[in-house]
This record gives sequence, structure tokens and C-alpha cells, in this order.
Amino acid sequence: MNTIGHWIAGRLVEGASGRTSPTYDPARGRQTGEVTLASAAEVDHVVKVARAAAATWGTTPLSRRTTMLFALRQLVDAHRRDLAAIVTSQHGKVLSDAEGEVARGLECVEFACGIPHLLKGSHSSEVSAGVDVHTLLQPVGVVAGITPFNFPVMVPLWMLANALACGNAFVLKPSEKDPSASLLLAELVQRAGFPDGVFNVVQGDVEAVNALLDHPDVDAISFVGSTPVARHIYETGTRNAKRVQALGGAKNHMIVLPDADIDAAADAAINAGYGSAGERCMAISIVVAVGAVADPLVEAIAARIPDVVVGPGDDATSMMGPLITREHRDRVRSYVEGAEGEGARVVADGATTASSTASSDGFFHGCALLDHVAPGMAAYDDEIFGPVLGVVRVDTYDEALALVNANPYGNGVAIFTRDGGAARRFEREVEVGMIGVNVPIPVPVAWQSFGGWKASIFGDAPIYGPEGIRFYTRPKVVTSRWPDPASSVIDLGFPTN
Ligand code: NAD
Repeated sequence: MNTIGHWIAGRLVEGASGRTSPTYDPARGRQTGEVTLASAAEVDHVVKVARAAAATWGTTPLSRRTTMLFALRQLVDAHRRDLAAIVTSQHGKVLSDAEGEVARGLECVEFACGIPHLLKGSHSSEVSAGVDVHTLLQPVGVVAGITPFNFPVMVPLWMLANALACGNAFVLKPSEKDPSASLLLAELVQRAGFPDGVFNVVQGDVEAVNALLDHPDVDAISFVGSTPVARHIYETGTRNAKRVQALGGAKNHMIVLPDADIDAAADAAINAGYGSAGERCMAISIVVAVGAVADPLVEAIAARIPDVVVGPGDDATSMMGPLITREHRDRVRSYVEGAEGEGARVVADGATTASSTASSDGFFHGCALLDHVAPGMAAYDDEIFGPVLGVVRVDTYDEALALVNANPYGNGVAIFTRDGGAARRFEREVEVGMIGVNVPIPVPVAWQSFGGWKASIFGDAPIYGPEGIRFYTRPKVVTSRWPDPASSVIDLGFPTN
């Protein structure tokens, strides 16, 4: 049995707690390994290692840091397929999708390569007679990153590239469901030249997370995961006086206005609803059909479902892989089975659509489509995180907008229309952080920043891009006067301009 350990101070370390958690090949439904789960004492050790490394890393010249970041960029690029293969083997998503995840993570490394420019700070000359003001952007110290199962490469790269570039040491606590990609990332960081101890991986579950939240030497926490855990992380971390960014779950709507191109909207709903088996925080889970568009749209989506080949992620013909665990697959199934009793119509139930190469033991669920879904039904209210698309029918744009704005989540949303005025109005009126106009999964590029609104984020710090640089640095403002000795006088008054 493959035992997955920690990466501490530049080497693989076996766990000492005696506690482990199984990892699976979700396509075949069999256990392939076990990951060690850190105790609080092990977390304490790794944080001390990071703290010691942060002391010198934070003052390492920017030119040297940049050289390492370019080397990391090169190495991640060269190992795209290896990273993707690990993701597919433990997460289950199809290989092409896993490669897409690596590519989006790589963008964040590329952004961080510009760190000398990003840390320039500002300077105001002659704010008063002989007085100048400048800012310094210094690292926060030790950053802990706690990441979800659904993007085991991309989400760690959202965090670690900027955190290291800004001069922090980093402790990654990956999801215990697919922990192996983090160890290849660690090896690549080391090969890129980063000093040992600057980047560490501690495997674990709630015990490790809580030990990080309580550790006095952890200065900042970056969290991405579900909303209840994000709330816990934010509340506990800030109570312990840490800087915290905590991104949570989602329920993303796609509004289709009556003037939209039905085929394009149906393709988008299929791609964004069933891609990665719906296990994306930016997946579309609710299609809001406005007016007469509903019947033809539901028909067009239903007509495409048989074309989606569901099978193992390592089979090039598969378009959608399995879900992460058997329990999660069964939970997803329960929403489909309960839908009719709540008043929805099951257009496609997703029960028996796996390809001939799929093992019957795999955690597969086909594409499900539920029509006449409404708030108050479990399939509407809950984040299902599976390949289940619900359709809500409304009569007007205003009803569609009110529906989205009444939803507790505010991660992503999309509008499909040919009407530029309606789209422009929507951008301004909708209470959601990331908006797609005829784009179903509007994940911002690495030089913008990513973050939802409402229950999709706790705190005010979106992740990566310029907001990432802000989060991983502490500003100082220096006001200095170098008086001309000839004009120096004694003056006990309060300094004014
Ligand atoms: P999760 O919240 O269960 O786990 C996330 C991390 O928190 C893992 O490392 C896990 O070990 C840890 N954790 C789990 N339970 C904990 C607890 N009780 N106390 C402390 N730590 C705990 O999330 P997941 O199932 O791995 O990922 C799916 C969720 O993440 C979905 O809700 C999805 O929407 C969300 N997500 C959000 C974003 C975003 O950017 N907003 C991105 C990806 C995923």
C-alpha cells in the first residue's frame, strides 16, 4: 500500500501520528493508498521549520527569488502531464481537464515571475518641505494554505506562487482525498532552487487544520473549500489575530434571456454543468430560463446529454470522470432521487450512463437534468457538487436577477444574451463576484483576482493576482526628512504641512 507522507525541510517525512486516511482510484472504486494525518505536534514541528526558513527567505534579493520563480515555471511546464496524471489517478477528472487545471495554476506562477515589479511600492516626493514618503511591502512571515480536493494542483498554485514570491514561507495542507500532487509540487519547488523549509507540505485532516489555526507562529491563512469550513477558518483564524482569506462554496446560476442563441447556451450549460463531473466551485448548477426560452433550451440540453461519454479519466474517449468518493456519489444521487417528490421533473436521471471502459465499482454518476426546480427544494438550496443541472423557469429578467441576488452564495454567475444593454445592466445589478457574459465559467486570469461575494467568501481578501500580493505582504509607510543642515531649527510644534 502506497503511504503518502509529509514534505518538511526539503525531504519526504513519514507520519508519526499513527493516523491515516485512505486514498482511492475513483474510476475503479478501489483503495490505492493511505495518507498520513498529522498530529498537532507534527504541525508544530513543520511550522517551526517554516518560521526558521522565513527569516532568511524574506530578505533574499528579489532578483534571486525571480530566478527561482522562472525555474519553477519551467519545471511545472515540463511536468504538466505528470501532475495531471496524478490528479486523474486520485481525483478522477479526465486527463485533458487535469491538464487544464495545471495550465491555470501555471498562469499564477507566471504572474509571480513579475514580482520585482509587483513589490515596487510607492514614493511621494516633497510631501512637505524636505520630506519624502515611501512604502515598503514586507512579507507577512509564515503562511498556511488549506486546500480542497477538487483542484489539487491549481488551488495550491493560486497561493504558493505569490506567497513565496513575496518572501513568505509556506505550509500547504492539501485535501486528504487527493494529497499526492502536493508532493510533486514540493519536489519541483525544491528543484527550482527554493531553500529547504520555505515550502512544506503537512498532510492531515481537521486536527492538522485546527493546529495551524491555533499556532502562534502562523501569520496568515489562505483557505479554499466549503462554506461551513471557510466560516470556521475565518472565525478561528481572525480570533487568533491572523490574517485570513477564506473562500467557500457556491451555487452558480446561468441566466438565459429569450434572445440568446439556444444552441450556444445549451453547449455552455453542458460544459459548465457537467465538466469535471460538476465538482468545480465555478460549475453552473442552475440554469435560469427566462420566458419562452425554457422549452427549447431544456430540449436542447437533454438532447446533448447522451453525447457526454462518462468513463475513467485515463481513457482518452471519456469526457467526464467519476466523483471523488462513493459517499459523495451516493449523496449526489440522493438529490436526483428526491427531486420528483419535491415537485421537480427529472428529465435525465444520470443513473446508467457510464462507458464500456468504466468499472462498475467506480464512483460514477451520469449527467442529470432536473426541470421546474425552485427555491425551497434541496436540489436548489444545496451545493450538490456533482453532475446535476437544475432548471428554474422565470418570466422576466427582473425575476431572474432577484433569484440570483436572493441566493446566499455569490461566487460565479453567467448571462447568455445578444443584448449588450441587458448584459451591461446585469453586471452592475447582480450581487456576485465573478460574472460571465456569454462565458459560463468566468474564472479570472491570473493577473486579475478571484473571489466571490456573500457566503462564497469570508473576509475581504480575494485570492491570487494583485489581491494575492496585497494579502501576502504587510505595508510600511516611511516618512523621512533629510534637512539641509543650513536650514535646521528647533521647533516643538506638531508636524504639519
Ligand atoms: P472541504 O471544506 O471539505 O475541505 C477543504 C479543506 O478543509 C481540506 O483540506 C480539508 O481537509 C479541510 N477540512 C475539512 N473539514 C474540516 C473541518 N471540519 N475543520 C477544519 N478543516 C476541515 O471542501 P472540499 O470538499 O475539499 O472541496 C469542495 C468545496 O470547496 C466545495 O464547497 C467548493 O465549492 C469549494 N471550493 C471553493 C472554491 C472557491 O474558490 N471559492 C474553489 C474550489 C472549491
